[in-house]
This record gives sequence, C-alpha cells and structure tokens, in this order.
Amino acid sequence: MFLVGLSGGIASGKSTVVALLRDLGCAVIDADLIAREVVQPPLKAYQEIVRSFGTRVLLENGEIDREALGNIIFSQPEKRLLLNSITHPEIQKVMLKQILKYFVLGYRYVILDIPLLFETNRLTKFMKYTVLVYCDPKTQLSRLMRRDQGLSLAQAQARISSQLPLDQKRPLATHVIDNSGAWESTHQQVLSLHSHLEDSLHFLWARLAVGGAVAGLGGLVTLLLWRFIS
Ligand code: ADP
Repeated sequence: MFLVGLSGGIASGKSTVVALLRDLGCAVIDADLIAREVVQPPLKAYQEIVRSFGTRVLLENGEIDREALGNIIFSQPEKRLLLNSITHPEIQKVMLKQILKYFVLGYRYVILDIPLLFETNRLTKFMKYTVLVYCDPKTQLSRLMRRDQGLSLAQAQARISSQLPLDQKRPLATHVIDNSGAWESTHQQVLSLHSHLEDSLHFLWARLAVGGAVAGLGGLVTLLLWRFIS
C-alpha cells in the first residue's frame, strides 16, 4: 500500500476533487473530520484541552468552542503549539487505524486529505505522491466569496493570505490538478490522476513485505510444531 497526500487552499476545489475521487471508489481519509472528532467529550484530547485552556473554551453544551480556541491560538503561537501537542498524536492514531483498516480491506493506496499538508510539510515524507488542487488567485477569491456569502472582500482576502499561496505550493506537489477552469477540465484531470494511481505498482512493496513476514512467521510456527511433536 502507498499513501497519497492531497491538499489545496481555501476554495481551490479540494472538496470537489475529493468527492470525484470517492465516486471513483478511492479510499479517502479526511484529516479535518478526524480533528473535529478527537476533541469531542469525553475523549482524551478533549480532557487535556479543558485542563490546559480552562472552561472558557467550552460551549454551553460542554463541547469545545472552536472559535474561542481559534482566537486564543491565533494571537498566541505558544498556545498553538500546546494545542497541536495535544491533538496531533490523537489525530495520527485515528489516521493510522483507518490506514490499517483500508490495508486489511485490500486497498492499494489511501488518499489523505490534509488541509495544511504543504504548510507543515511534516507528513509529506510518508507520501508516495502529493496532489495539489490548484486554482489561480483571482478565481480562488471569486469562488470563495460566492461560496461563503457572508464574507466581505477584506475577510476573504485575509483568509486566503493566512495560507501559503497556491503558487508556492505548486512546486512542492508531485501532481497538480488545475481547477481554474470548467468542471469538465477538472473531471478529466481527476480521471487521469486516478488511472495513474491505479496503474502504480508501489503497493506491491508493502504487500510483498507483509507476505514475507507472514510466510516467515508461518515457517517458524511449523518448525516449532514439528519439533514439539517429533
Ligand atoms: P475547497 O474544498 O478547496 O475549499 P470547494 O470544493 O468547496 O473548495 O470549492 C469552492 C467553491 O467553488 C464551491 O462553491 C464549488 O462549488 C466551486 N467550484 C469548485 N470547482 C469549480 C469549478 N471548476 N467551476 C466552478 N465552480 C467551482
């Protein structure tokens, strides 16, 4: 099995591309969804957040107030590190479990949908391929404002400029899906990415390694049994 990291920028079309890949039968792990799930009460990360940040980051129903927490870490970098040190190990555990599940189910590759894949750059070394869903800056701004209608122009620009510009992410990716144009063009690019992934033989290494380990273990057990009964 091999891993494929997928990312984009706000409103570059990542969700659109992920939906197409899921329709094609790909296994996709959504890191953002996992990040929301691991901070649900009464899980470990939830308890540690309350211990470290206090009840001021809780909503009335006892869940984490993501906006309040977001405001704290936005202005205090050391708090961001603290929050990451609480949540990242839990997110990674869940991701690993899901990867193993897909491996056992026989998937040859898993796509990891990770919003800040290229910004943090920590996980890219585990990926066989990295995919950037790109769109040009003008289109990105206009699609963001069309999708999130409550945003003013200044707010939309601030959201985009809080991320690494898509043009700087381009050279970091092994594959780019340029979603600046019409749906049909994106669809075609997703189809060719899909057939490239399907044709890739990198999954064989993991299968051979596991096969070898299982065969080795089987041989050892046979040898021990033979010695025991003879
Ligand atoms: P992301 O998940 O990267 O934030 P989305 O997939 O939600 O971005 O796309 C942002 C907006 O742009 C959505 O409203 C979506 O419907 C629209 N959109 C995405 N791709 C295209 C396209 N090729 N042509 C027109 N609109 C698009």
